[in-house]
Amino acid sequence: MARIVMKFGGTSVADLDRIRNVAARVKREVEAGHQVAVVVSAMAGVTNQLVAWCQGLSPLHDAREYDAVVATGEQVTAGLTAIALQESGVDARSWQGWQVPVRTDGAHGKARIDRIDGEELIRRMRAGQVPVVTGFQGIGPDNRITTLGRGGSDTSAVALAAALKADRCDIYTDVDGVYTTDPRIVAKARKLDKIAYEEMLELASVGAKVLQTRSVELAMKERVRVQVLSSFQDVPGSLVVDEDEIVEKAVVAGIAYSRDEAKVTVRRVPDRPGVAAGVFGPLAAAGVNVDMIVQNVSADGTTTDMTFTLGRADLPRARKVLDENRDAIGFSEVVADADVAKISVVGVGMRSHAGVANTMFRTLAEKGINIQVISTSEIKVSVLIGAEYTELAVRALHSAYGLDAA
Ligand code: ADP
Ligand code: ASP
Ligand code: MG
Repeated sequence: MARIVMKFGGTSVADLDRIRNVAARVKREVEAGHQVAVVVSAMAGVTNQLVAWCQGLSPLHDAREYDAVVATGEQVTAGLTAIALQESGVDARSWQGWQVPVRTDGAHGKARIDRIDGEELIRRMRAGQVPVVTGFQGIGPDNRITTLGRGGSDTSAVALAAALKADRCDIYTDVDGVYTTDPRIVAKARKLDKIAYEEMLELASVGAKVLQTRSVELAMKERVRVQVLSSFQDVPGSLVVDEDEIVEKAVVAGIAYSRDEAKVTVRRVPDRPGVAAGVFGPLAAAGVNVDMIVQNVSADGTTTDMTFTLGRADLPRARKVLDENRDAIGFSEVVADADVAKISVVGVGMRSHAGVANTMFRTLAEKGINIQVISTSEIKVSVLIGAEYTELAVRALHSAYGLDAA
């Protein structure tokens, strides 16, 4: 007998038939003698709608009220899933974040889970009940509802698995595993039976939304066995494992893209010590995460341009912060471009193989794709390109690194 956390994403609970399908899957595990806790996302499209409503009223809306609104999607599916389970003869009860409770920090809109009190849920699971927990949400130090950032139900599931000391955390979604790249844009993408935590972490952080980055980080830290598998097909999924469990290590494990980026150039900032701190300090204080950064060589020795990327959703806030600090920083203007995409290649094999970045640059050059910004880490190379070239770039790179399925 095992203790399992089963997490179902938005498309897996998109309508009543799919919720019945989820209940049937859960029932199967219960009947096999396992203790099961379920984590659910909002129905497909619901969170987007809720976010759009907040933005429609105010682009710079209050983050506490944003959380009050967007957390509602999961409340609906948790209740409906519990009803579907009860209807199929399984004892089940829904739980919202605050009821468990799932305690988070106070960073509304992108909160981190501090701790989960799992005792009551464990007691009920032992008694044969299935808790159905809302993903994506918790309760902050101010006793208000918080949300964990988009895709956060994965993190809820892994954190719950750790708190409940579960043997497994199964992430059910609309693809049957982790692929070498998004199978929706590259038909030749290959399913990976196993992927290393570090590779999955890096892929997630650069845009492979199959798992939220923080969920992988937590799984790695808490030693949670995570499996990604299909809600719709009974086929083996992908396991996220330690690097040494992978026998044949590819130089490049996968390719990811993100269209949620924006590029900002701060023009004609003074070229002297303290300017980077002057630009990025206030942004950090406002909770804006900056990703790639380039500072151009100053042409006249007195001023220079500073270019960086950030999440597109943070653009209005970044503009506001920069405008407020214009006199202190001393720049001439801020130019933003949201028509960009970040393409990244990831693999632990890069540590020992040279030439990975060069293959990327050459491949993009052959397709006539201009690279705007470059950044690298030990196991990753990322480039920023025009958004219209996203699919072309990912497909070309997938072939260039020999990842195409036969
Ligand atoms: P859920 O709603 O179940 O959480 P998501 O939409 O968040 O599902 O994540 C699953 C999606 O991730 C897939 O439909 C796929 O388009 C996308 N994806 C991106 N990169 C990958 C990858 N490398 N492997 C598998 N899926 C990926
Ligand atoms: N419903 C939330 C979102 O769409 C959380 C999740 O699906 O993981 O981001
Ligand atoms: Mg998701």
